Amino acid sequence: MADGTEAIVLRTLRYGEADLIAHVYTRHAGRRGVIAKGARKPKSRLGARLEPFLALTLQLVEGRGDLATVRGVDVIAAHDSLRSSWRAQQVGAAALDLVSRITVEHQPSEPLYHLLRNFLDLLDSTAGRTPPASDGDEQRGSALLVAFQLKLLHVIGIAPQLAACVRCGDADAGIAAFSAADGGVVCRGCRTPNDQSLDAATYDGAVALMRTPMSELATRDGDDLPSVRVLRTVGSGIVAGTCREHAGVNPKH
Ligand SMILES: [Zn+2]
Repeated sequence: MADGTEAIVLRTLRYGEADLIAHVYTRHAGRRGVIAKGARKPKSRLGARLEPFLALTLQLVEGRGDLATVRGVDVIAAHDSLRSSWRAQQVGAAALDLVSRITVEHQPSEPLYHLLRNFLDLLDSTAGRTPPASDGDEQRGSALLVAFQLKLLHVIGIAPQLAACVRCGDADAGIAAFSAADGGVVCRGCRTPNDQSLDAATYDGAVALMRTPMSELATRDGDDLPSVRVLRTVGSGIVAGTCREHAGVNPKH
């Protein structure tokens, strides 16, 4: 259908007797709310398709209020493997939650839409690959999530500077810390007690996660990925610090 709106469902809320409100990230109009009337009635064809993680084409009718009314739904990608894996769901939910809270309604970003779509597709493909889940899957899921978060910060314009010291601009000065307030890494000479210390493995891990395409991370095994400790430190230090300082948002892990 030519006039459809491509969208990814971020979350849904029950509304009234039988309606459903969905928060979606659309390809051309950014984040917005839509309402599916009667979607929770047993025979509704809309309800089952309006679920978090689904990529859809929505037929929308604009109303007087802020919520467009859903008249039809076509599924682009159901992400069934993702939705049936507990760990993949947890990782995916953290990404949807961050997009919900860090984006501004009605502010379009097609790169952000594609980043989220690509992330969910990869998470779905890795979730379906090797049941039952092994430790390697868990590490890969975390690596994908932290990489997604760093790339999201880049897309919305608040990526931390990792290439050189954010204070003196020196790239060879030995990075030793991170400053969320200044938005980047800090060298040994410029470091102050307020900065978060950053060991070499964590710094290298952050640079690799920022640079490496998610599609490549999705195919790597545990030994070729940053360690679980590095992933946690990058996620809770660099990513969370940047989100808190520059967007007022505390991301889930
Ligand atoms: Zn410096």
